[in-house]
Amino acid sequence: MSDFSMELNDDQRTLQEWVHGFAQNVIRPAAHEWDEREETPWPIIEEAAKIGIYSLDFFANAMTDTTGLSIMLALEELAWGDAGICMALMGTTLGVAAIMANGTPAQQMEWIPQCFGTPDDIKIAAFGVSEPDAGSDVSSLRTRARYDEATDEWVLNGTKTWISNGGIANVHVIVASVDPELASRGQASFVVPDGTKGIRMGQKFKKMGIRASHTAEVILEDCRIPGACLLGGKDKLDERLARAREGKRSSSQAAMATFEASRPAVGAQALGIARAAYEYALDYAKERHQFGRAIIENQAIAFTLADMKTRVDASRLLVWRAAWMAAQRKPFTNGEGSMSKLFAGETAVHVTEEAIQIMGGYGYIREHPVERWHRDSKIYTIFEGTSEIQRLIISRAISGVHIR
Ligand SMILES: Cc1cc2nc3c(=O)[nH]c(=O)nc-3n(C[C@H](O)[C@H](O)[C@H](O)COP(=O)(O)OP(=O)(O)OC[C@H]3O[C@@H](n4cnc5c(N)ncnc54)[C@H](O)[C@@H]3O)c2cc1C
Repeated sequence: MSDFSMELNDDQRTLQEWVHGFAQNVIRPAAHEWDEREETPWPIIEEAAKIGIYSLDFFANAMTDTTGLSIMLALEELAWGDAGICMALMGTTLGVAAIMANGTPAQQMEWIPQCFGTPDDIKIAAFGVSEPDAGSDVSSLRTRARYDEATDEWVLNGTKTWISNGGIANVHVIVASVDPELASRGQASFVVPDGTKGIRMGQKFKKMGIRASHTAEVILEDCRIPGACLLGGKDKLDERLARAREGKRSSSQAAMATFEASRPAVGAQALGIARAAYEYALDYAKERHQFGRAIIENQAIAFTLADMKTRVDASRLLVWRAAWMAAQRKPFTNGEGSMSKLFAGETAVHVTEEAIQIMGGYGYIREHPVERWHRDSKIYTIFEGTSEIQRLIISRAISGVHIR
């Protein structure tokens, strides 16, 4: 007997239809406007909060799905609506994921609700790792965290860059170096609460795509936070640093595994964009006539669509597999999390470009959404680990060789 099934259960289908409805009726009609405005779409976040899509409960419920698929289904639909707005809704979850991964149960209880707020008083969060000189190489962070024993405070100094919701978030989770000599093993994560002095937004970036998602520098200047804001607590950090100084292996592999586990969620967003572009191009190819016939009747167009659909479905299978493995706590022995993000990200870029080609001049102008989808898709080969970094992780995992 086998219990293998590719069918979604009733709860998952209901969730998928509900989020799709929001994506179709609220997100899509607003997508062009917020892409042009390049601002956080507060009215859309408010609507999402009102119906419960932007809420702690929504994420807590989705996380209890032992198949791991619920959150992937929701993300695919939201990004199908618009990736920029999806990121505006999801930027908070980067901070939440960091608190979940590193915080004590008490810290999780305290901070995660503050990341979402309530429908009447919406809050957002941000996660700051990247710096001007430390992107892919996160071991070389320059932001420093110094402990002031006299006041039981941590003092943060440094500049973070490319931070989603950076400087406008209510809760910032900042990764900083406590002991630079230990590289990534000397780093820790800190919560910077709302209203803290010494943290401010630097430059806000104008971007190619996902323009409804705010991206900015975060500047920390003698930013003092209570000792209790060190995620995981000081005893655990001291223990970890001591082990690292003795040259013993620490749980850095576990941290890596947590990072890997978030990658299918990024892949699911890329998948949503790719599916949107494929569907749009398919409809267009049936309607557009040249030389007295629908352009889809030409094999060149039909085969392109066949390849697009194949890649979209293959992306979904990789995303679902990795999500299921993560939910089942199965180790990604072959870099399966990275595979899902790598393939779905590159598929989104490829499929959106093919959609433009199928639509010819109409694909290139802003009256149709495919040019926006192509601009949006490109970030999925860059953030949360570039395609090259994903290949590095997969190749190291499959070979056991320290590929450089
Ligand atoms: C819109 C946007 C939102 C973002 N949001 C956040 C956020 O919320 N929080 C956050 O902390 N960061 C965020 N980032 C930062 C993002 O994660 C980094 O841009 C990304 O990790 C790449 O770093 P980098 O830009 O410095 O590129 P670099 O690391 O300088 O890479 C440049 C090129 O070199 C390649 N490369 C580097 N090292 C190797 C290697 N060893 N082998 C092969 N190739 C290599 C890369 O793949 C890339 O092609 C965001 C970025 C953007 C653009």
